[in-house]
Amino acid sequence: MDTKYIFVTGGVVSSLGKGIISASIGKLLQARGYKVTIQKFDPYINIDPGTLNPYEHGECYVTADGMETDLDLGHYERFTGIHTTRHNSITTGRIYKTVIDRERRGDYLGKTIQVVPHITDEIKRRMLREDEQNEQLDFVITEVGGTIGDIESAPFMEAIRQLRWQLGRNAVCVHLTYVPYLKAADELKTKPTQHSVKELQGMGIQPDILVLRTERHLDDGMRMKVASFCNVDLECVVQSEDMPSIYEVPVSMQHQGLDAAILRKIGIPVSETPAMKPWHDFLDKQRNATKEVHIGLVGKYDLQDAYKSIRESLNLAGIYNHVKAKIHFVNSEEVTKENIAEKLKGMQGVLICPGFGQRGIEGKIIAAEYTRTHDIPTFGICLGMQMMVIEFARNVLGYKDANSAEMDDKTPHNVIDIMEEQKSITQMGGTMRLGAYECELVKGSKVYEAYGDETLISERHRHRYEFNNKYQEEYEAKGMKCVGINPAANLVEIVEIPEKRWYIGTQFHPEYSSTVLHPHPLFISFIKACNH
Ligand code: GLN
Repeated sequence: MDTKYIFVTGGVVSSLGKGIISASIGKLLQARGYKVTIQKFDPYINIDPGTLNPYEHGECYVTADGMETDLDLGHYERFTGIHTTRHNSITTGRIYKTVIDRERRGDYLGKTIQVVPHITDEIKRRMLREDEQNEQLDFVITEVGGTIGDIESAPFMEAIRQLRWQLGRNAVCVHLTYVPYLKAADELKTKPTQHSVKELQGMGIQPDILVLRTERHLDDGMRMKVASFCNVDLECVVQSEDMPSIYEVPVSMQHQGLDAAILRKIGIPVSETPAMKPWHDFLDKQRNATKEVHIGLVGKYDLQDAYKSIRESLNLAGIYNHVKAKIHFVNSEEVTKENIAEKLKGMQGVLICPGFGQRGIEGKIIAAEYTRTHDIPTFGICLGMQMMVIEFARNVLGYKDANSAEMDDKTPHNVIDIMEEQKSITQMGGTMRLGAYECELVKGSKVYEAYGDETLISERHRHRYEFNNKYQEEYEAKGMKCVGINPAANLVEIVEIPEKRWYIGTQFHPEYSSTVLHPHPLFISFIKACNH
């Protein structure tokens, strides 16, 4: 079968959950036995979100091949279990950079380089995944970030228009809009949807399928109204109501026949609706997991999206432990020695978050000390692990001035030091140690047990600094063990204090590889310890 292309755009407002809808479509097609990938095209100029502040754009998600990407790729992977790559996250910046580099090389010699056709051609090339010729895919789902009508999304819309024309029935456009409820009138309003579809039509794109985000149920009359005003079949107007969990969305979409509607539009015979048993088993577990386990999340960004993958990994691990992980954000900038007991009161476990820079790190160190001395299960990730290491140096090894070279490059006790390969780097973007690297686990350690007695694992990274091996013997002698080592570079990837209930820090980011059907073993083991 030829590869089919599904384009997902959004209108009216942002934050409607296009990423969840794209991931759900991926999941449903996968359940029908199709090979699928999902990619995100973001209209901003940054080459990638790696240099963006989480306040601007939420978490930066990292693929196994080391691309810093939009957090929607996390949804794609969690829902479908596929491994995305650098080809699944594209920005205007990358498109222009490719075209401009080509121009400087002289590839277009003599030609005037323009948005149409040069930029749109490059967008189309990437939408068709022409760099990935040897992958055999049945469906490529392309989500376009932002909202139609944004100036910067215009070239993407033009590319979709052209592809639609070129590919004929092999392409389908799904448009997500919002149907607001007006309390005073006690009415749901479809006008914004009509306007949004008109705008799309004005750009030459007729949507095949409309997904209406709504807080209240839309009756058939309402759907019929939208269908007739927007030239869309009634069965192709589906609604995305508020759900108790994002993982209910694929099932709701399946009930409404979204995947079947897509197949029909393309002209593929619709076989029996797949049962999705593992997914339903997971949803049952989720519904039954009501007992709460309280987890303190010590970080500096009080924003749902900033630690998205960590929150989802905790949530998933809770469900597999038959509990509900209740996450309490603890702002590390507000933590002091005096108030830490109060801040962590009632917490059955604490996760110390990743991060960059000075702000809020002393609070993380105080939290690490408190949980270590009170034997509260603690999970440190990346910067969180580094803060555990610094705390141990200051309070157990007796090096009061111990620090990371990132925060104090003059410290005589740089227990966290810059990696050798990072010393010569001057550019910020995409230059960290990124992506999956191997790690050898020490037999008999807690992590070895958690991973189910595997010795060689592979996990994703995003850092410039590392545990300073000069201190390894001292740490080990005083009880903090280095239980995960990268075999090629001899970097310490995991520390643990075996005598504590669960006190583990990882230099890598396990949260990037935790999925709905395969939650990460370290998170499972952590929640288990918290729930003990
Ligand atoms: N800032 C630290 C480093 O670069 C930790 C990075 C992180 O937490 N992702 O090593």
